[in-house]
Order: sequence, then structure tokens, then C-alpha cells
Amino acid sequence: MLTDKTAVITGSTSGIGLAIAQQLAAQGANIILNGFGDATEIEKVRVNLELQNDVKVHYIAADLSQPESARQLIRQAAQLMGRIDILVNNAGVQHTARLEDFPTERWDQIIALNLSAVFHTTAEVLPLMQKQSWGRIINIASAHGLVASELKAAYVAAKHGVLGLTKVTALENAGSGITCNAICPGWVRTPLVEAQIEALAAQHQIDLEAAARLLLAEKQPSLQFVTPQQVGGAAMFLCSDAAVQMTGSTLTLDGGWTAR
Ligand code: NAD
Repeated sequence: MLTDKTAVITGSTSGIGLAIAQQLAAQGANIILNGFGDATEIEKVRVNLELQNDVKVHYIAADLSQPESARQLIRQAAQLMGRIDILVNNAGVQHTARLEDFPTERWDQIIALNLSAVFHTTAEVLPLMQKQSWGRIINIASAHGLVASELKAAYVAAKHGVLGLTKVTALENAGSGITCNAICPGWVRTPLVEAQIEALAAQHQIDLEAAARLLLAEKQPSLQFVTPQQVGGAAMFLCSDAAVQMTGSTLTLDGGWTAR
């Protein structure tokens, strides 16, 4: 159980981050939600999480592609909750283009959010966790942190970077009660991937389900999507006592993608 612990989950208004928030709340953790979206919808999610799990849930609308906002998210969360025990760096975006055509502003945006924000939130949270001699930092990387695909220069570079940052964070805090690990999911059917399925459907003039099967067949030998809840389960495991000696590691949930 995570009773009386506080978890900050970046990008938790949708997809994987929301599933992680739901599972940590179900374990009794107080939650800081973050991300973009419709204010009414976010408030509904916030209230439901509180009522269903009898925990405190706050929402902070920080744009993490801005270094000062990323740091402010942690400061504000600590002020609201009095402590931060778990940080899940999950917010991320995607853009696909050949490297020579990759727009500089999209490169900058992806590196700022998918990589630099992880540095800023981690740097800001570590002193708090060091004082408590307990902390769990979980970075949601990707199969693209381990292997590459065409058309994803910024995303692949950022996710490889996140795995490096995970290892440095782990080493610098080894034995202190703080662990830092990465989860590397394969395809998870969230809005981030739905956009890629739609693009594939348009490119091949096929329906969405045929495009989803094509997407899986190309990379994921199980031919099944990973669910957001399964990624949430992996995050829960990393917070558990069984994972105390696990640090600087990579947990792959990719239906066999990186096994070949
Ligand atoms: P998603 O689009 O459903 O969710 C992304 C979240 O990030 C949303 O809450 C969004 O509001 C938030 N966000 C976007 N820009 C932000 C910003 N500037 N500041 C703060 N929050 C911002 O996507 P998802 O698939 O749930 O992705 C979550 C993470 O999982 C990402 O890091 C992604 O790279 C990673 N991932 C996803 C898959 C997949 O197949 N879906 C696979 C591997 C890794």
C-alpha cells in the first residue's frame, strides 16, 4: 500500500499517465495530476479519483516544455501536499518526419518535453526525497529508448536520453532509499498512437482496425497492444518493496518488440 505517500505524475490527464494515477490512487497514494485537456473533464477525473479512493488529488496545469514550469510543478506539489514520494515522468509528445525534413521547432519541443523536463523535475524533487531517505522516480521511456525506427529522430533521441538520465539518477542515489527506473512500453493504444494509426489508415487507404493491425505487425510480435493499466501495474511494482534493489533498470513491456 502507498497510504500517506504523494505521487506526482506528469501528463496524467490522458492515456498511460492517467492509468498510472488511477492505480497509485487505488493503492492509497495522494496524487498530483498534470497535463493538458478540457478543464471540466479534468475536474471530473480529479473528483472521481478522490471519491473512489479516499485520497487527496490536486491538478497543476504546468507546461513542462518550459524549464521553469517543470520546476514550479514540483515546488507547487510539495507546497500543496507537504511531501513528494513518487515522481512519474510520463508527459510526452510525438512527431514523425524524415530527419532532413524534421522541423526545428518540433525537435526542440520533443527534446524539451520528453527529455529536458525529466531532468528539471528530477533535479527539483531529489533534495526532497533525499531528506526523507525514500523516493521512487519512474521514467516512462519507450521501446524507442532501446531501438530506433525511421521518422522519429527527436523521439528516439529523447527516449535514449531518458534511459541515460535514469542510470545517472540511480547511481548518484544508490543506497539512499531512492530508486530510479525506466519503463519501456511498446505500442499502447492511446491518443498519441491513435494519431499514427490514423496516418497509416490514410496512407494505405484502409480502415482504422486494419491500420492498427499493420502497426502492430511491423514491430510488436505479440500482435496485441500493451494496455495503459499494464504500464500502471509496472509502476506499482517499482513502488513496491519487491523492487527496493531495482535501480537504474529498464522494464520492457513491449510484446517482444525489442527481443528480436
Ligand atoms: P497521451 O497523448 O495519451 O498523453 C500524453 C500526456 O502528456 C497528456 O496528459 C498530455 O496532456 C500531456 N502533455 C503533453 N504536452 C505536455 C506539456 N507540454 N506539459 C505537460 N503535459 C503535457 O500519450 P501516452 O501514449 O499516454 O504517452 C505517455 C508517455 O508514454 C509518453 O512519454 C510516451 O512517449 C510514452 N509511450 C507511449 C507509448 C504508446 O504506444 N502510447 C509507447 C511507449 C512510450
